[in-house]
Amino acid sequence: MTVYPDHRSSGFATRAVHSGSPHDKTTGAVIPAISLSTTFAQSGVGKPVGAYEYTRSANPNRDNFETAIAALENAKYALAFASGSSTTAVILQSLPIGSHVVSVADVYGGSHRYFTKVANTHGVEVSFTTCLEEDLEKMIRPGKTKLVWVETPSNPTLGLVDLRKVATIAQSQGVSLVVDNTFCSPYIQNPLSHGADIVVHSVTKYINGHSVSVELDLNGREMSVNLNYWQDVIMGVAAFNCPQWNERLTFLQNAIGAVPSAFDCWLAHRGLKTLHLRSQAATKNATAIALALEASDNVICVRYPGIGSHPQRDIAVRQHRDGMGGGMLSFRLKGGREAAHAFCQNTKIFTLAESLGGIESLCEVPAGMTHAGISKEEREESGVYDDLVRLSCGIEDTQDLIIDVLHAIKKAVMSTGNGIL
Ligand SMILES: *Cc1c(COP(=O)(O)O)cnc(C)c1O
Repeated sequence: MTVYPDHRSSGFATRAVHSGSPHDKTTGAVIPAISLSTTFAQSGVGKPVGAYEYTRSANPNRDNFETAIAALENAKYALAFASGSSTTAVILQSLPIGSHVVSVADVYGGSHRYFTKVANTHGVEVSFTTCLEEDLEKMIRPGKTKLVWVETPSNPTLGLVDLRKVATIAQSQGVSLVVDNTFCSPYIQNPLSHGADIVVHSVTKYINGHSVSVELDLNGREMSVNLNYWQDVIMGVAAFNCPQWNERLTFLQNAIGAVPSAFDCWLAHRGLKTLHLRSQAATKNATAIALALEASDNVICVRYPGIGSHPQRDIAVRQHRDGMGGGMLSFRLKGGREAAHAFCQNTKIFTLAESLGGIESLCEVPAGMTHAGISKEEREESGVYDDLVRLSCGIEDTQDLIIDVLHAIKKAVMSTGNGIL
């Protein structure tokens, strides 16, 4: 579906609140209704009454969401999918048999799984590099390499990629640059403005922004801080400017049918309207926590692109809005694996859970959770040691989060008998 983004000349917040949110022409409803109908009446054979025929092909709520994302990513087109993973799958499936893709080594685990275990079954080969800027030129196979796949910041070590540099190398060889922008969200980084051809998101994370369902008892009290936290929306989106990509991916969106429900589009669109406020609050919290961690004798190192100690801080300053670091950070704790595990069991506000980007703060140990499927050797090569803790900072009070983190470090250090009290 071709999207006609509106509010283009407005600032981000105005676009977030108003793009793709037309008032209802008949009722005046300020927020669009949820169009749950899967099919739409036709006045004659092949003559739909309005713009819609069948919800897999297009739906009003999906169109509204896509319009809003296109406006926030400075794109002409956006297409929503059933998950971030299916967005990746559809882009890879758009390539002809025999295609080759170059990817950064520390991509999201699910992308790595698709690249290594599924893409090969439809004749697409993916090669990985830990040093994209240096290796890309010699890794490109003329005529065969179609895509470069980048995540910046990387997960969970928060390494950055200079998008302009990579885009220049890729495009000089006719290769398209895809950027998974999940970690930054469109508020902090707009990859298309730095030369990327396609930007993708797991909408599940920052864009929707509300990941946790907490069980309540009959008196409304929290019954359990259960570890099986789930997202209230799983969804993905791709945005781009090129009409050929639009034609190909729109065709596959309908042909493969990995589309989100109207209800999920509506929920994700509601979440998106506060993205700027949530990103600002998460960045403020992550920055304060990163500095507090750096000052702790029990922390080996902190990885956060929003502060001066990050080795690629200059890239963050160029690529991120106001040099903001976003809500994600990771750090290595003295006392090894045991200390990292104990830390995550001793936080009171940070919940031990996978996922990220929600209003609530989460912590995890990548080596034992999100990145457990990767061999120790390969993990450590990209900096994912057993003592590495990843934090997704939410929008709670800064001081409460700092106290929580420092308290959990103290407990972890005491329980393992390592480190300095
Ligand atoms: C979660 C995630 C994905 C996959 O998205 P789903 O919506 O869970 O399928 C892709 N990339 C990154 C960076 C992610 O964090």
